Amino acid sequence: MTLLRFAPSPTGALHLGGLRMALFNHLFARKAKGKWILRIEDTDASRMVPGSVEGIQKALEWAGLNYDYGPGVGGPHAPYFQSERLDLYRSYTTKLLTTGHAYRCFCSVDTLTQVREKLARTGSNSTYDRRCLHLTEEEVARRVRAGEKHIIRLNTSGVFARRPVIDLVFGGLKDAHGSLSTDPVLLKTDGYPTYHLANVVDDHTMGITHVLRGEEWITSLPLHLDIYSALGVEPPQYAHIPILVNPDGTKMSKRNGDVKVADYIARGWEKDAVLNWLALSGWGAQHEQQVVDDSVTERTVKTAPDSTKVMNIDQLISEFDIAALTHRSSSLDQGKLAYLNRQHLLQGASTPSGLADVASRVRSWLDESKPLGEISLEYTFPEYIEKVIRVLDTRATNIRDIVTLAPYLFVEPDYSTDDAREMVRKIQQEERSSVVKEFGEDLENIQSWDSSSLNECISCAKKRSKVLLPAVRHALTAVKDGPPIVDLLLVLGRKRSATRMLAAAM
Ligand code: GLU
Repeated sequence: MTLLRFAPSPTGALHLGGLRMALFNHLFARKAKGKWILRIEDTDASRMVPGSVEGIQKALEWAGLNYDYGPGVGGPHAPYFQSERLDLYRSYTTKLLTTGHAYRCFCSVDTLTQVREKLARTGSNSTYDRRCLHLTEEEVARRVRAGEKHIIRLNTSGVFARRPVIDLVFGGLKDAHGSLSTDPVLLKTDGYPTYHLANVVDDHTMGITHVLRGEEWITSLPLHLDIYSALGVEPPQYAHIPILVNPDGTKMSKRNGDVKVADYIARGWEKDAVLNWLALSGWGAQHEQQVVDDSVTERTVKTAPDSTKVMNIDQLISEFDIAALTHRSSSLDQGKLAYLNRQHLLQGASTPSGLADVASRVRSWLDESKPLGEISLEYTFPEYIEKVIRVLDTRATNIRDIVTLAPYLFVEPDYSTDDAREMVRKIQQEERSSVVKEFGEDLENIQSWDSSSLNECISCAKKRSKVLLPAVRHALTAVKDGPPIVDLLLVLGRKRSATRMLAAAM
C-alpha cells in the first residue's frame, strides 16, 4: 500500500511551506488510495518550541488534512514522536556496528577541528581522516567500558555499493555524493540519533513508500540512500518539492512574516482557497530535460491546471500528478489568494448547507472577536446573517467582508460620522426629514414586504423627491455606498427599516 508521511520538527508555528508539504502528501496518498502519517521529528531538544505540535495539529485540522496515523490517532507504527523511538535508533546503530557499516569515533571536538583543517590544507575533500575506523576491537571495547564519550559514524569506505541518486521531481542527480562529509554521524554523544539516522530508520520501519519533502533536504538524499544500502534494505522513492519564495524571488521564511498558517486562519481565509492556492503554486506544465545516469532524457511533464483554476480538494486529488511539479521555486501571489478566496466563498455560499456554514462562521467571529463590539441578538440569528450574505457575497473577497463592508447591517447606523454628516449636507436637512418621514409612512402601508412591492414604492416616492435614494440610504446605513436600497430593505425587514427611518427623520 502507498504510505507517505509528513514529518515536521516542532520548532515553531506551522508555516505555509509546511502546510503545502502536508497537502502534497495528502494529495499523493489519496490519489493512490494510500495513507499518510503525521510523524513528529523531535530529537533535537534545543530547537523544540512548546506548543508547536498542537499548533501543527490544529492547522492540519482546520485545513481538513486528516492524517491516517499519528499523534492523537494512533496506528500500527506508533509511537509517532521520534523522542519516543530512541531504542529503535540505538538498535539499528548496533546492527550497523555489528556488520561493520558503522564505527565508534572517540575524537574530541578539538581533534576533529584540527583534522579538518589539516585535510583542507592538503586540498583534500575529506572532512575526517577515519582514524577511529582503524582502532582495534579491544581498544574500542576498553574505551566504551571506561565510559569514554563517543559518536557513531556511518562507514562509507566502500563497504556497500552506492545507488544512483534519483528524485521524482529533480530526476537523476550527478555527483550527488560529492558534498557529503566523510562518514557522517548517526548517533551523537548524548545517545540521540542525528536527523538522518532517525529519518531513515523511521521511514524504513514504518514502511514508507514515497517521501515527499522540501527541496532543502535534497542534499541529504545521497546520505539517506547510503544508510539504506548499509542496512541492506530498499529505500522509498523520493520527491523533493521546490521551495516557496516571495514574489520578488527572496526565500520565504518565518522571519519574513505573513507565512504562519495561524495568521491566515485568523484573517478568515477560506481553507479551500488556501489549499487551492498552495497546491497550484509550483504545479506547472513545462517540458524539462534531465540527466539520468549520464543520459539526457525528456521528463514527462503532464499538463497542469492554470494557477488560478478554482479547484476543491477532491479535484486537486484527482488531478494531482507529481510529474506536473516544476523544478523551479514557486512564488505565492497574495492577489491570487484573494481571487481564489472570493470564488470559493461564492461557491460555498451557493448551497443551503454552505450558506449556513458561512453564516455560522460569521456569527462566531462576531461573537468571539467582537469586531463591532456587542451586537444585539436580533442581528445574530442565522436566517438574518444568511440574508446579509446573499446581499453581499458578490462584493466580498473574504468572509470578514460580510461584516466590514456593511457594519450597519449588524449594528445601528452611526449618524455622527463625518461621512454621514456630509451626506446630510448634500441632501439638505429639511427636505431630508420630510422625504424620509413620508417614505417611512409609504413603507408602513406596504402589503407584502417583497422586492416587487418595495421597488414599486421606491419608484413612486422617487417621483416626489430627487433626493429620495440618498436620503433613504442615509437613514438606513449612514454610509454613502452599499447594496441597492431594495436589498437593504429586504434584509433589514419591515420593523428594523421603520425604526431606522424614524430615527433619521428626527
Ligand atoms: N523534520 C524535517 C523538517 O521539519 C522533515 C524532513 C523530512 O521530511 O524528511 O523539515
